[in-house]
Amino acid sequence: MIDFQLPAELVELRQRVEEFIADKIVPFERDPRQRPHGVDESLRRELVALGRQAGLLSPHAPKEYGGLGLDHRGMAVVFEAAGWSTLGALALNIQAPDEGNVNLLNQIATPEQKARWLAPLVRGELRTVFSMTETTTDGAGADPSLLKTVAQQDTEGYRITGRKYMISGVIDAGVNIVMARTLDLGGRDLGASMFMVDMDAPGFSIVRMLDTIDTNTAGGHAEVHFEDVRVTPDRVLGEIGRGFANAQVRLGPARLTHCMRWLGAARRCHAIAVEHAGRRHSFGKTLGEHQGVGFMLADNEIDLHLCRLTIWHAAWLLDQHQRASNETSMSKVFCSEALGRVVDRCMQILGAIGITGDTVIERIYRDIRPFRIYDGPSEVHRHALARRILSRRAKAGDHA
Ligand SMILES: Cc1cc2nc3c(=O)[nH]c(=O)nc-3n(C[C@H](O)[C@H](O)[C@H](O)COP(=O)(O)OP(=O)(O)OC[C@H]3O[C@@H](n4cnc5c(N)ncnc54)[C@H](O)[C@@H]3O)c2cc1C
Repeated sequence: MIDFQLPAELVELRQRVEEFIADKIVPFERDPRQRPHGVDESLRRELVALGRQAGLLSPHAPKEYGGLGLDHRGMAVVFEAAGWSTLGALALNIQAPDEGNVNLLNQIATPEQKARWLAPLVRGELRTVFSMTETTTDGAGADPSLLKTVAQQDTEGYRITGRKYMISGVIDAGVNIVMARTLDLGGRDLGASMFMVDMDAPGFSIVRMLDTIDTNTAGGHAEVHFEDVRVTPDRVLGEIGRGFANAQVRLGPARLTHCMRWLGAARRCHAIAVEHAGRRHSFGKTLGEHQGVGFMLADNEIDLHLCRLTIWHAAWLLDQHQRASNETSMSKVFCSEALGRVVDRCMQILGAIGITGDTVIERIYRDIRPFRIYDGPSEVHRHALARRILSRRAKAGDHA
């Protein structure tokens, strides 16, 4: 049976995070060190220092590396509270792609790799990148099997050549986790593998920064190039040929943590909309008293409530070590669409104010839109779910 009762210490932690975000982080939201390609590293470090001071840094990371060691349910509660501010995830060091990379390194890195990259990542001293997607015309995208980047084995290790597109967090990052098709000495295709590549490795370059609708990723999004980049065997992450399987270790939980953070952001927008609807008058009554607006507020609460339920359910399954790929997929589709609707309604309720920088709604409206695309577009999750539904039917054999 699913137990939605939160333990007292988690309730207390949630309150600490909520107070920390409201008192210490929200005041930074108008800091000018936020630019089209994300926040400056100086601001990120300042926020991380505050998170560290409050004892709230890296709540998802193992305790042995300095994190709080929360399970998925704990993360659901804390990440939602952090998502209230557009800078909350940075202050707790739980922003993408670093947050998912902590999980990946913790699960598949060697002890030496953990000491070298996981430890400073958890301390908020290192930022990381995850490079899978390629050009939108012929490389890996929603369909990762189109992977074109190649790691050719040689006598000293591997040489990586390829181009990657829409890679997040590149500016000021220290290391890049790169997915490449691996060829052995004889040219045999061993499948996809992951490699740890330094951002200053010879042959690696940022081709261009991409101007995107969202501005919430520290280090922005870029097109990057690898030209015969040499890596030694100690930089293979996980086993050779297990790249796609290991990517799922990262992607499944990371989909859910996006839902958690965006739930907090959408709740903030809703709170602003409720306040506005209760205060602003139109045609002799408050906006909220008009059924058209009241229903929007009601629909918001329905969406927010259902998002939290679906997140908590998938988190509970993960904590029970049960398979949850269907549930995380469904949650990702539902939350990305429902929370987008919530933010859109909030913007509508605020009228002209909604599209200005006078509230965070405008910012969150832009930032949340890509959520329907990254970590699997909605259509691709539906496509995967449909395949599983039909395969269940085929296995069951008795057709209605
Ligand atoms: C803000 C942002 C940050 C990102 N950061 C990173 C990163 O750090 N590292 C990284 O590797 N990648 C990153 N990505 C890339 C992301 O993972 C890809 O955008 C995603 O996998 C989709 O690939 P694509 O953009 O090539 O779309 P395509 O594969 O070209 O698909 C385009 C559209 O076609 C439709 N479609 C595709 N397949 C199907 C199907 N089977 N059925 C129905 N419709 C379908 C969908 O509507 C989809 O949106 C990021 C993307 C965004 C938007």
